[in-house]
Amino acid sequence: MAGKKKAGLRCPICKEEFKYVANLVGHLLSAHKDYDEQVEEPEPEPEEEKEVYECEFCGAQFETEAEAQQHVYEEHKEELAKRVEELMQDEEFMGELKEKAQEVLKNGGGENEGGDKKEDK
Ligand SMILES: [Zn+2]
Ligand SMILES: [Zn+2]
Repeated sequence: MAGKKKAGLRCPICKEEFKYVANLVGHLLSAHKDYDEQVEEPEPEPEEEKEVYECEFCGAQFETEAEAQQHVYEEHKEELAKRVEELMQDEEFMGELKEKAQEVLKNGGGENEGGDKKEDK
């Protein structure tokens, strides 16, 4: 019953030997503290992130917004016209539109004139 050598603890990363688990842990934490991040499985990249544009009238799908719009103009002209008409009659919608338009005019139009604020040097 002699000569049985206790197997040393080995750092699985750099193969350095340690007598005590605590030492190994300490070594791992100090020498390879970045290692955890490298070992972690990389997040699988989502492959299917294709955006699909759907026709709101018939549900047909298109790869680009332009295609979808063209489809609507070509296939659903009447529906589109109807919808616009409906929106024009919608007071709430038109009210919002007017408000927005006024905001834009306020913010965008004021700068061009530039007559209000004059600073003398
Ligand atoms: Zn190591
Ligand atoms: Zn459609």
